[in-house]
Amino acid sequence: MMFRRTGAQVRERTQTQNLRTDSKTTLKVIPLGGIEEVGENMTIFEYGDDILVVDMGLGFPDETMPGIDYIIPNTKYLEENKKRIRGVIITHGHLDHIGAIPYIMPKIGDPPIYTMKLSGEFIKKRLEEFHLLGRSQIHELNKDDVLTLGNFRIRFFRLNHSIPDGVGLAINTPAGLFVYATDWKFDHTPVDGRPTEFDKLAKFGGEGVALLMSDSTNAEKPGYSLSEKTLGETIDRILFEAKGRVIFSTFSTSVSRVQQVLNSAHKSNRKVVITGRSLVNNVEICLSAGYLNLPAKGMIIKTEQARKLPDSQVVYLVTGSQGEEAAQLARIARSEHKTIEIKKGDTVVVSASPIPGNERSISAVLSNLARLGAKVLYQKILDIHTSGHAYQEDLKLMISLTKPKYFMPIHGEHHMLVAHADLARNVGIPDENIYILESGQMLELSASGAKVAEAKIPTGYVFVDGLGVGDVGEVVLRDRQVMSKDGMFVVIMTIDRKSGKLTGQPDIISRGFIYMKGSEDLLKEVKHEVRKVVETKNGGRVPKEPNWAYIRSEVRDQIGEFLYQRTERRPMILPVVIEV
Ligand SMILES: [Zn+2]
Repeated sequence: MMFRRTGAQVRERTQTQNLRTDSKTTLKVIPLGGIEEVGENMTIFEYGDDILVVDMGLGFPDETMPGIDYIIPNTKYLEENKKRIRGVIITHGHLDHIGAIPYIMPKIGDPPIYTMKLSGEFIKKRLEEFHLLGRSQIHELNKDDVLTLGNFRIRFFRLNHSIPDGVGLAINTPAGLFVYATDWKFDHTPVDGRPTEFDKLAKFGGEGVALLMSDSTNAEKPGYSLSEKTLGETIDRILFEAKGRVIFSTFSTSVSRVQQVLNSAHKSNRKVVITGRSLVNNVEICLSAGYLNLPAKGMIIKTEQARKLPDSQVVYLVTGSQGEEAAQLARIARSEHKTIEIKKGDTVVVSASPIPGNERSISAVLSNLARLGAKVLYQKILDIHTSGHAYQEDLKLMISLTKPKYFMPIHGEHHMLVAHADLARNVGIPDENIYILESGQMLELSASGAKVAEAKIPTGYVFVDGLGVGDVGEVVLRDRQVMSKDGMFVVIMTIDRKSGKLTGQPDIISRGFIYMKGSEDLLKEVKHEVRKVVETKNGGRVPKEPNWAYIRSEVRDQIGEFLYQRTERRPMILPVVIEV
């Protein structure tokens, strides 16, 4: 994966003044993330003095971001305009839509959050983990409610996705009606029995939609997305046919998948053990909020009880379908799990598609499980996953139903947005009415038409590393990239202040560069070079005022060059001067 938006922070510009022009009659749509990557979904809508924020998601780092846990959008513009924020609407409970809430809300004055019941429960749980619960009001809405926030009048419509309670938004403003549909698919036979509200979509189309913003994740996939229900038979078959235990791994938010496992387990006379903190939490939330139904009492049992049952009567539901190192499945695969040890006869099911970037770790986990004797079933072997995002034919139907004047593909990497734009052209949206934006750009909509404004708001990534938010910038990241590629090389020089000479041999410490014990000759030469640099730089004379910074930079450059010539590697050189 490419390093995303290198130097974005350098490009950061604040043009707040420009944004206020003709704001009286213009709706501004400003995506802060989610349109150059999968993740970090967050969009600002602005009309007059009112700002509405939709979603607040995390992004996930790629392999060029060593040590980074998450990425969140840059919210400088919102921080400067926090008094005008009327509310935050959350479309559904996935982390790439709610994950940044604890990081961002305190910075923008904890505005009220509006969302559906289950998403609200997930948000509360997340805020609780950050000890932030109670700071902003969380309003749970019904899908038929109408919400008015300043100049925005918001109606909701149900969509299907891989988590229940996902909604789209139809927002009336004086500049027109726009429809916001992220993370959706059409499922005519959803497991939770709550299909997409096509009637509402058609109604909006009849009212006249100025702008449709729609999910591009699967815009490159032809056909229709499969119903979640089609998986039911596959899961039934696996659970019936397996002679031993079944270990079933999926996203902890794939509530419908969990429901199907519970249903199949009941039919095949198995009990279910749930392990992994996020899965246990989410199942608990969904059971108490009525989004999961136990087919029979006592179906969910503890590991100790499972041990007393024959293997053919147990299913383990575990986290780790992305091969995450700390999650249950990877621990089981490394034989490090507290209670689950793989044995011959076990069947392991990975019911999720890999998020780009995770393929290799998933593959390693699968291999280890197979080595331990498990039968491993995953997407390539069996249709054991359906996507939560619409395919091409569904995307076209969405456009045809809502009949927008303007169209903006969202939620995806740039090539997915381009594919979605092609589909829109195919169903009759003129090219000049299709807008593919970059983060921070703004589309201005008014009675007289639409255009992309010249001004941009500040964008760029804010990195979350452990407890630090935003304290790791591009420079730190570049250091990590260098160190992870070629290691580091520390040169410690003890220099006599009076004579300007080294008092002895320089010390060398290196990590991740070369094996020191086998490289005595090279090290000897390096030490010789260091001596040369220090002593010629001082001209062999006693310096009036020793310029240590200069010596350090010379050592860095010349030793760096010397090592490159000998090894073709560029470790990070850290010169240290000790004056005596
Ligand atoms: Zn989602």
